[in-house]
Amino acid sequence: MAKKQKHGDKQFETNCVRTPTEKEHNRSHSTPIYMTSSFRFDSAEQGRAMFAEEIDGNIYSRFSNPNTSEFIEKMCVLEGADDGFAYGSGMAAIFSGMAALVSSGDHILASRALFGSSYQILTKILPRWGIDFSFADLDDPSSFEKGIRKNTKMLFVETPSNPGLDIIDLEWLGTLAKKNHVTLFVDNTFATPYIQRPIELGADLVMHSATKFIDGQGRAGGGIIVGKTDLMKEIRFFSRQTGPSLSPFNAWIFSKSLETLSVRLEKHCENAFQLAEKLEGHRDLESVKYPFLPSYKQYELAKKQMKLGGGLITIVVKGGFDRAKKFLDCMNLATISANLGDSRTIVTHPSSTTHSKLTEEERQQVGILPGLLRISVGLEHIDDITSEILQSLDQSA
Ligand code: PLP
Repeated sequence: MAKKQKHGDKQFETNCVRTPTEKEHNRSHSTPIYMTSSFRFDSAEQGRAMFAEEIDGNIYSRFSNPNTSEFIEKMCVLEGADDGFAYGSGMAAIFSGMAALVSSGDHILASRALFGSSYQILTKILPRWGIDFSFADLDDPSSFEKGIRKNTKMLFVETPSNPGLDIIDLEWLGTLAKKNHVTLFVDNTFATPYIQRPIELGADLVMHSATKFIDGQGRAGGGIIVGKTDLMKEIRFFSRQTGPSLSPFNAWIFSKSLETLSVRLEKHCENAFQLAEKLEGHRDLESVKYPFLPSYKQYELAKKQMKLGGGLITIVVKGGFDRAKKFLDCMNLATISANLGDSRTIVTHPSSTTHSKLTEEERQQVGILPGLLRISVGLEHIDDITSEILQSLDQSA
């Protein structure tokens, strides 16, 4: 259902906890789960009018449901967006956003550093329908300027990127998009709206894999797009017809999880910063990357654009893939998993998992080296996280 909410007059933390337009749910204080596939009409006329979009109301959970509407409403306020649509996964959100707005003969210019499945959508799936793509580099903004073509319809970027943690100046990119009349679509999964609000900086659409920090405890898959009314109208039409919608149960989880987003993110970021500081310069590491470390190459931009450095760091172990594998197998506390944004610390080897479908050369271009490990720093005590990583480095030597 369309939600026309801007940032309220309340602080971010309050908007995480309170839904701006709290609804009546039989006087229950916590929103119940509406496990219903459809809704009753009070009359034949009401059914007709709802389908004709003359009046608002839930019809069918593929279109809307009180739980998905609550989640969307909260995310619109947190991101400063007009409207949104919630999906069964982050990838469903990305694919729907692109497919709804781009047609055969159009071109999408994207950051080269992208989550593996986003890369596959652009390079393998959309070209089957005559949608062209090319890549530009986050740390070379001029490549975006040069990359825009006459038929470019959309700029799609991940900032910070997965797993390389590269960023781009969103305010600058927003101006470029406006000047060229193209839609700027931003994957804000790594930052969350607590750390970065792309719409305020000039983006038209923002998406999240809600599976990550929005859930925060590794329980549910989901995604969301929020953005400008006119674009969301097209996206809603596409999504209502094609049916990638989020389930009410998962929407309920995400709405509840948003209540603790700011508290969790503060701790994730504090732990990540401390771990990055401890690991920097370690004899067994080729590099440590974290946006709020002064050694980070876009440090000034990170400080300007992001409230905190985020919950992820990357390390490159000396000894390449063999050492990275050994490192993972020496872990006692942290988990080997492809997910991130969990309360539990997770370490991922992107080149053999999330980005394994890319060629060696494609991985090289975005710095996904064989020895690179992505650490999603959890909410355990920092001393336990640090000793876990240090002991795995020692044991794997
Ligand atoms: N975008 C980013 C940056 C991701 O890291 C991921 C998943 O890891 C996705 C999108 C896809 O999200 P999902 O797994 O919920 O489909």
